[in-house]
Amino acid sequence: MRFFPIFLDPSAGSFVVAGNGEAAEAKVRLLESAGARVRWFAAPNNGHATLGQVEVLARTPLESDLGGAIAVISAAGDPLDGQLYEWAKARSIPVNVVDRPELCTFITPAIIDRGEVVVAVGTSGSAPVLARRIREQIETLLPARIGELAAIIGHWRARVAKKLRAIRDRRRFWEQVIDGPAAQAALSGKAIEADASIATLLEQANNGEALRQGIVHIVGAGPGDPDLLTIKALRAMQDADIVFHDELVTPEILERVRRDAERVFVGKKRGDHGVGQDEINRRIVEAARAGQRVVRLKGGDPFVFGRGGEEVEVLREAGVAYVVVPGITSALGCAAEAELPLTFRNESTRVAVITAHRADQSAADWSGFADPLTTVVAYMGLSGASKVRDGLIAAGRDPATPAAVIARGTRKDSKIAVGRLDALAALAAQAGKGPALIVVGQTVRRSAKWIAELAKEHAA
Ligand code: SAH
Repeated sequence: MRFFPIFLDPSAGSFVVAGNGEAAEAKVRLLESAGARVRWFAAPNNGHATLGQVEVLARTPLESDLGGAIAVISAAGDPLDGQLYEWAKARSIPVNVVDRPELCTFITPAIIDRGEVVVAVGTSGSAPVLARRIREQIETLLPARIGELAAIIGHWRARVAKKLRAIRDRRRFWEQVIDGPAAQAALSGKAIEADASIATLLEQANNGEALRQGIVHIVGAGPGDPDLLTIKALRAMQDADIVFHDELVTPEILERVRRDAERVFVGKKRGDHGVGQDEINRRIVEAARAGQRVVRLKGGDPFVFGRGGEEVEVLREAGVAYVVVPGITSALGCAAEAELPLTFRNESTRVAVITAHRADQSAADWSGFADPLTTVVAYMGLSGASKVRDGLIAAGRDPATPAAVIARGTRKDSKIAVGRLDALAALAAQAGKGPALIVVGQTVRRSAKWIAELAKEHAA
């Protein structure tokens, strides 16, 4: 470590900046945004009057101008750079001459600014572009509202310290806050709930209960490709104590779950209905009540034919804290992969998302899908393909309407079959095993597969 990082209080004194160019101006802007007091020694033609905390002085700085300075930044060029460096060093004031590492006793990092939470990234001045790249990576890791969480914690700190005297107790208390529902509420922008949750926890801690509060994340895992997980989903998976997953969640996605988390399969296996929704609900509530961080991991999005709505109701009823994390539903994942626009100007002005599974039992009313400008996306369509075909044709859709069956979309072995609506059963057979979606509508003609098949026909 060549430079030791510290955070300066910008109100403790003033910053002296020298120089006219872009480099000096960029530093002034940065300091200004941090609320620092700045004395900027610049030539009179630089066009800036006094701005907020910035005092612009149209002259060369003197040694006496360094009085009360907490840091000096120069981009003035020689000989002033060298002069300022000597003066500052003699007075033990940190000094930075832009792009002159040999004239720096401090350097400025790349900054991630989330309010109270600030991350500074430095490469000892060796590779600023690398520092910026690292900053981008950290940006994606940090929840957007982490600064708000820090502010709420800061607000409670003194009260907690008064009640919990032992450092160990306090540390445990804050760990529970950060890992539990209070932090989740703060990160979702619900400051009032976060406050209430901290208050409850503090009361329990006072009573010597020191309960760990469990939480359930109902997480959409997307259609299969692990790169389609949201950052929020990944974070919940990395934080989990226990994960309940079903048959749509691929092994590649499960690999992204925290290594030590317990994994419980609650899906359906071939010829077996699996654990059943009531039992799943019971076990999720039980795990959360035992203080665990539970992830209920579902294919696609939890609220699109995912029974996420029912689980939310159960959790509400049980008084268990929960968060719903959306996922890319298979219709969207498959459409993107197939390059099949679900809407298109003048060709498709509506998308109907339906399930084919119960089409036979519910005597579905297909008349709502008669409009030729509606793209119909049918989930659970593999076994119901002929019902979808018959229903749509009976409703008046042209039997020649373009149709696609997309099986195992976004997975390594994904397959798409395209053709006419009246050939839907054959297309389903062609696509092979599920999970699969049916898409019926004009825009299927725009998919990559359709265009490739047309090219083949022309060649033949
Ligand atoms: N909540 C899920 C849907 C669950 S219902 C979502 O939002 O995607 C299960 C149905 O989803 C399957 O029968 C199939 O129609 C569809 N499905 C899920 N993953 C799929 C995939 N990778 N490719 C095609 N269809 C998929």
